[in-house]
Amino acid sequence: MNDELRELYQQVILDHNKSPRNFRVIEHANHHSEGYNPLCGDRIDVFIDVEEGIVKDISFQGSGCAISKASASLMSSTVKGKTVDEAEKLFEKFHSLITGKADGDPEELGKLAVFAGVRDFPARVKCASLAWHTMINALKKEKDVVTTE
Ligand code: ZN
Repeated sequence: MNDELRELYQQVILDHNKSPRNFRVIEHANHHSEGYNPLCGDRIDVFIDVEEGIVKDISFQGSGCAISKASASLMSSTVKGKTVDEAEKLFEKFHSLITGKADGDPEELGKLAVFAGVRDFPARVKCASLAWHTMINALKKEKDVVTTE
């Protein structure tokens, strides 16, 4: 990782921690999933509202380390407005990038490219990918109807 990218990485992480995007609950979300990364203790809830194959709205809630939070924030702002198909492809590209299987196209990945830095830290890969795994999981199933009433 060169100095420029490392600096950008730190800026992005700090920025998204300070003001995470889409950090809220979507009451009417038709997809929802919970993610947990026991290695670090990161917990996340992802809410997605899909209409006609498009991610109309996406949000998250949870608590975790700076990387997991920044990644969830960036994931949500990247995926919003995309088709479900595009969201799944982005997940694959992002996953290849952070696990070092591919470098990824910076133009296509945009700010997500800064996460390439975590590939040298296997424990951090889990933090960076948690929101993405949870998003994919949420897309695959309808919202669990669980009620205590
Ligand atoms: Zn973490």
